[in-house]
Amino acid sequence: MPKPFLPYGRQSIDDSDIEAVARVLRSDWLTTGPEVDAFEADFAATTGAGHAIACSNGTTALHLALAGLDVGPGDVCIVPAITFMATANAAIYCGADVVFADVDAQTGLMTPDTLRQAIGRVSGGRLQAVLPVHLAGQCEDMAALREIATAAGAKLVEDACHALGTSWRGQPVGAGDNSDAACFSFHPVKTIAAGEGGMVTTNDAALAARLRRLRSHGIERDPARMEQGQDEPWWHEMQELGWNYRLCDVQAALARSQLSRLDVFAAKRKTLAAAYDAALEGHPVIGALARTPDCDPCLHLYPVRIDFVAAGTDRASVMNRLRDRGIGSQVHYIPVPSQPWYRRRYGNQTPAGAAAYYQRTLSLPLFADMAEDDPERVVAALNDVLGV
Ligand SMILES: *Cc1c(COP(=O)(O)O)cnc(C)c1O
Repeated sequence: MPKPFLPYGRQSIDDSDIEAVARVLRSDWLTTGPEVDAFEADFAATTGAGHAIACSNGTTALHLALAGLDVGPGDVCIVPAITFMATANAAIYCGADVVFADVDAQTGLMTPDTLRQAIGRVSGGRLQAVLPVHLAGQCEDMAALREIATAAGAKLVEDACHALGTSWRGQPVGAGDNSDAACFSFHPVKTIAAGEGGMVTTNDAALAARLRRLRSHGIERDPARMEQGQDEPWWHEMQELGWNYRLCDVQAALARSQLSRLDVFAAKRKTLAAAYDAALEGHPVIGALARTPDCDPCLHLYPVRIDFVAAGTDRASVMNRLRDRGIGSQVHYIPVPSQPWYRRRYGNQTPAGAAAYYQRTLSLPLFADMAEDDPERVVAALNDVLGV
């Protein structure tokens, strides 16, 4: 029997997840309630963060974090050129401009050097935030990035959408020691799924309180924080302009049930990544994912580097022929500055390292429900397609 199609990523749902969601459906609360509170508490405990604020998705997590840190018109945010466009869009939603940092051509990550160069290119705006993206689940030198950002007067907001379960120098990503806030996504291809969902973690209590207001229209309900001091039982205040970016209890139940298996998911992803590394060791054409020092990654993606031209082919044929063999693959990411909207706004500003990374990258399947021998099978199919 042919094996079922192997996508590049997918969720892992079991009966305990289904039971958790069904329990909420039978309860009194569907919107933001006790399940969201419990998910936030569990997430804070897992990451070691002082505060965890759940929201509707990873994109709104990024928007909330930047808005909460006062990013606004006239400001500039630095975003690596290789990321999902939502990282840059979040700055644009705030009325700010984006300066794209280059990335290391092997890892796809913004480095201390490429951050310094990007800071040098900020002109005509106040640098307000730097957003490192933990591409594929790996971190760069977070202490160095923080130091450089701080010296430039900027906040550091981690796009940690790929990095739940990753540690840097023994600290879980999201613990908040190396940034002002970290943002996560629970889209089904990410390490845990909520259907749609997101989270901001921070150690700043005032920022956490503000994020809770901003995710729900800017409304404050805590009597201790009222501006006008009314004590009527119905009184609540809209103190600033926010949005409806809430997570609901149905989604939180799924995400919380999934979070309880994070150890299992992370262990499996590490096993699979090690199997890819072994299958690719010394490979003449395919470069295994390059790793950064001090990082113990829970990989969300397994991107390899292939010199398609030297291999006498092109990426589209490789992807098509892998698909014919029942194997999905994907490209993460098209450089954001080369997207038509950003090109119209800034001209094409794709830096050299990002262009080089993009040329060669291909993400192979990686998700918790894969078989342990799937990486070997994927590499064999890739060898076949590449004729090596
Ligand atoms: C998935 C993702 C986002 C956005 O998350 P959503 O939950 O899909 O809105 C942002 N940044 C990166 C790097 C992502 O992978």
